[in-house]
Amino acid sequence: MYLYAVHDVTVPRRQTMAGASDSAAAAAAELSVDGNILVSKALARFGVSHMFGVVGIPVTSLANRAMALGIRFVAFHNEQSAGYAASAYGYLTGRPGILLTVSGPGCVHGLAGLSNAWANTWPMVMISGSCDQKDAGRGDFQELDQVEAVRPFSKLSEKVKDIREIPNCVARVLDRSVAGRPGGCYLDLPTDVLHQKISEAEAENLLVEVEKTRKPNPVPAPRSSDIESAVSLLRKAERPLIVFGKGAAYAKAEDELKKLVEITGIPFLPTPMGKGLLPDTHELAASAARSLAIGKCDVALVVGARLNWLLHFGESPKWSKDVKFILVDVSEEEIELRKPHLGIVGDAKKILQTINREVKDDPFCLGKTHPWVEAISTKAKDNGVKMEAQLAKDVVPFNFLTPMRIIRDAILAVGSPSPVIVSEGANTMDVGRSVLVQKEPRTRLDAGTWGTMGVGLGYCIAAAVASPERLVVAVEGDSGFGFSAMEVETLVRYNLPVVVIVFNNGGVYGGDRRSPEEISGPFKDDPAPTSFVPDAAYHRLIQAFGGKGYVVETPEELKSALSESFSARKPVVINVIIDPFAGSESGRLQHKN
Ligand code: ADP
Repeated sequence: MYLYAVHDVTVPRRQTMAGASDSAAAAAAELSVDGNILVSKALARFGVSHMFGVVGIPVTSLANRAMALGIRFVAFHNEQSAGYAASAYGYLTGRPGILLTVSGPGCVHGLAGLSNAWANTWPMVMISGSCDQKDAGRGDFQELDQVEAVRPFSKLSEKVKDIREIPNCVARVLDRSVAGRPGGCYLDLPTDVLHQKISEAEAENLLVEVEKTRKPNPVPAPRSSDIESAVSLLRKAERPLIVFGKGAAYAKAEDELKKLVEITGIPFLPTPMGKGLLPDTHELAASAARSLAIGKCDVALVVGARLNWLLHFGESPKWSKDVKFILVDVSEEEIELRKPHLGIVGDAKKILQTINREVKDDPFCLGKTHPWVEAISTKAKDNGVKMEAQLAKDVVPFNFLTPMRIIRDAILAVGSPSPVIVSEGANTMDVGRSVLVQKEPRTRLDAGTWGTMGVGLGYCIAAAVASPERLVVAVEGDSGFGFSAMEVETLVRYNLPVVVIVFNNGGVYGGDRRSPEEISGPFKDDPAPTSFVPDAAYHRLIQAFGGKGYVVETPEELKSALSESFSARKPVVINVIIDPFAGSESGRLQHKN
């Protein structure tokens, strides 16, 4: 039954006479391109070089065919991690990250990655196999209306109904994912379409036709009056600030930002993933004087960053009531939502180029002795000195600061190209954001706009394959690590230069912190919802697959493990035992928990 469905298209069942079956066999031999091959050809032809996913019915052949055509297929244990990898790959490379999943539950697991791409505005395409079209609605194997299930998180959600639609649909999802505001798209491949066949010549024709009609991503040019207004606002401001985020990082706007900051002398503040577009050590960096910078600035040029929770919605009391925002964003929708003093829609890199040209025509520079620049630099230096004093202490059992300082110094010693830092967790991520130093663009991946936990291993794998010249260092809480810990096997299998450092404080936030009245009821002797097995041997997980694992409890042990693993550039897990009662929930989120 199943096989007949497969061959129906190429070998009609009623041809039973010898002559007829000979000609059918000849025709079948000519019909050598099935749906799996055509999807792979289209992906390879349209620029895809990497895919992440989990194989199974009906997409195993698709993965094999894609590999045979030169696409690197990174096979995961769980679609969730593979999806996170695809989303981060899209951010790091500017090309859609591809996730391949099986139907039904595979698609649902993959939705974690697709929704993460949506939340962070990163380009990604999820491709899922789906059930036979003729059996849809009848309870087929792993059946789900996947096109509808993924729609809320997709810019475009398409089902291919016939093999001949494949090249066009593949091109459409790839192109749409990067057009305008980047995001996720979905392509649904029914089993019967994957098994349909056409001839090589027809496949080639279809691909050529689609190639002819593909157009580059149209980005609107900014109005010159808007550029003039932006520059005039910055020029007249008494306390200007430049804020940039992962949209500017995605646009590769680092050179233009550097130029603007250095010509005008305006202090800058990166968002967590904007860190590194300009070095954290730059003298105009306002990160260590964040409250002063956002609380007192009168004009803020915000480039590729949303005025969402991460930036306190751009509202007082964190920001001054009278601050004038100039928002630069590729999304018109975003500008309409925030209603800034001035909104400029377009690509961050191009807009900053135009702003720099406009500034150059009539240059201005605040200079080091400008009261605003001085105030920020003094505050940043004072806070820096206080932080260093805390960091200088060797606290054992480890708090968060001591191991973070040792990791920071080891990462800085690597030099350039600097490692990609992947960070997740509550305390681990918060402390890491302040302590770890970013000097190069797109070298920080963290929980992002959604505060997604469990992204760590997927992001590490994406970074390692997208930037093979860089070491990847994950600094993760034990809870974040646990979401996808099995993917350490994937690190070992592909021999990726990834060092995963687990801050092990025995649970979510650490040890049992319940108040006495919270410890009651029939299950009061169960472990607290926040507790894991104390001193779990996470380093042994990677050893099970032949990777290297360390457990460390002192500064000397940590330094030695880092030095060995950074020079080895092999998959490693370093299990750092932390005092279970060190740290707390992130300051800005504490009131929500
Ligand atoms: P962060 O988390 O760093 O604050 P967000 O994810 O909130 O950053 O914001 C990124 C913004 O960048 C999004 O609103 C997105 O539309 C925008 N963006 C994406 N690509 C570009 C680009 N090429 N030019 C300008 N803005 C962009």
